[in-house]
Amino acid sequence: VLETALLKVSMEVENKELALNKDIEGNIPFIKADSVRLEQIFTNLLGNAVRYTERGSITVRAWSEEKRMWVSIEDTGIGIPKEDLPLIFERFHRVEKSRSRELGGTGLGLAIVKNLIELQNGSITVSSELGKGTRFELRFPVASKEET
Ligand code: ATP
Ligand code: MG
Repeated sequence: VLETALLKVSMEVENKELALNKDIEGNIPFIKADSVRLEQIFTNLLGNAVRYTERGSITVRAWSEEKRMWVSIEDTGIGIPKEDLPLIFERFHRVEKSRSRELGGTGLGLAIVKNLIELQNGSITVSSELGKGTRFELRFPVASKEET
């Protein structure tokens, strides 16, 4: 699913100086989740990364640790101001009007993403530095033997 989402966004980066990197661990365990929703989650986050990054790179990593599967999506884009960080998962929250007008969007994407992740029993956190880049980290519980 992650690969499909990556393929979709790779078509949007054409006119940017943007490298798409992926580092996906070989033995990723199964998770119990709706694949349509997962793809929606990843295309949304990757879409943001492309929209808010003019040059540099977008890096997607996936790995597992004990009973969790982790995914991180990191970009070298415009970043998010500290005061906005706690609010970006709220409906319609967008960072400063000038930036919003230029880059479009409704401010619903991340609110939906967070909801969908929680519906799959996962969680998401963000860290960012203005002018340097943004990193989203997602965690999902690994499926039990019975579920697999
Ligand atoms: P929509 O996704 O509904 O089209 P949107 O992208 O503006 O619109 P969200 O995806 O909810 O809305 O993101 C909320 C705000 O967080 C954005 O307006 C943007 O300012 C900021 N943001 C989100 N992702 C990034 C990112 N990767 N880099 C920098 N800023 C980001
Ligand atoms: Mg968005």
